[in-house]
Amino acid sequence: MHNYNTRKRILVTGGAGFLGSHLCDRLLDAGHDVLCVDNFFTGTKDNVKHLFDHPHFELMRHDVTFPLYVEVDEIYNLACPASPIHYQHDPVQTTKTSVHGAINMLGLAKRVKARIFQASTSEVYGDPELHPQPERYWGHVNPIGPRSCYDEGKRCAETLFFDYQRQHALDIKVARIFNTYGPRMHPNDGRVVSNFIVQALRNEPITLYGDGNQSRSFCYVDDLIEGFLRLMQSPSGFTGPVNLGNPGEFTMIELAEAIRDLTGSRSPLQHLPLPADDPRQRQPDIRLAREHLDWEPKVALREGLKPTIAYFERLLAGDSKRDEAVA
Ligand code: NAD
Ligand code: UDP
Repeated sequence: MHNYNTRKRILVTGGAGFLGSHLCDRLLDAGHDVLCVDNFFTGTKDNVKHLFDHPHFELMRHDVTFPLYVEVDEIYNLACPASPIHYQHDPVQTTKTSVHGAINMLGLAKRVKARIFQASTSEVYGDPELHPQPERYWGHVNPIGPRSCYDEGKRCAETLFFDYQRQHALDIKVARIFNTYGPRMHPNDGRVVSNFIVQALRNEPITLYGDGNQSRSFCYVDDLIEGFLRLMQSPSGFTGPVNLGNPGEFTMIELAEAIRDLTGSRSPLQHLPLPADDPRQRQPDIRLAREHLDWEPKVALREGLKPTIAYFERLLAGDSKRDEAVA
């Protein structure tokens, strides 16, 4: 535990979202002061309401595309809608959030001399021609497609982080996050794990886009947050970008079958058209994280799916109680 001498004041942007709320939990558990900043576009107060009475937790409604003046020791910059449905809803705002948000948070880090972490993404590799993807791969990204607001916004944010480091000697840490799942995922964000679990629990058709043979590698949220903390604590010479994800690779059919099995669902599989620019394959090469952070994921897919399914069961049970109350 920290005392007032060693306790850090830590800003988490996007702290009311899926990953941000788990990060706030871990930082508070470690004894730090946490300032959670969020505009609640995709995050909710529900994700952090268990922290409202915590003496070291503060929640601020703020949009990172506007400057922020606070005094902190460290910044985790997570603010950005992450699922295709959400980031394509207002693509201009998505680019602004990544780019203006990065400029504002980097400016803040420069003023207060804070170490700053960027939640980048495997999407910087686009639809990769190299498999698995190491950090030295520059990517294969469409600059004008429906996913570009997110992919190019995040790429530009990485550019800004490295320019601030070269130009202003900022202490930066850049993580490239691969698909992550767990409790507090948004039930309607269209991401595959939440979609399939909600569909399975309702015994509705499980929607497989394309032939379902495209692959992804899924990391359980607790493993990922451990990677965030290790990266933030690593020596200042190590900036990343570093891949954080689980190398276990599954096709969407395999994922659907695992979820059907674990939920005991009767849902049939339904094939729907593949969205534009949907990457065929994705798997992190995590040698750099192993070497520099001594980090690798511990939770196997089926193990991580269990608490995730339990979370959605509670959420859907709450929804049906509310529906009964309204009826
Ligand atoms: P999320 O949508 O649950 O969280 C994002 C949070 O940012 C939300 O609380 C949202 O309200 C907030 N936000 C959005 N725009 C904002 C703005 N302009 N100002 C202030 N707050 C704003 O998504 P997540 O899965 O928790 O993702 C967190 C970060 O990690 C994102 O930057 C995302 O790009 C990155 N990431 C996530 C994954 C994943 O699999 N979950 C993969 C790669 C990268
Ligand atoms: N997907 C699917 N059915 C769904 C939602 C997604 O088959 O109901 C597929 C999607 O086409 C993609 C994969 O699952 O190939 C992962 O999609 P997600 O949106 O979760 O993440 P991303 O494409 O950003 O990796």
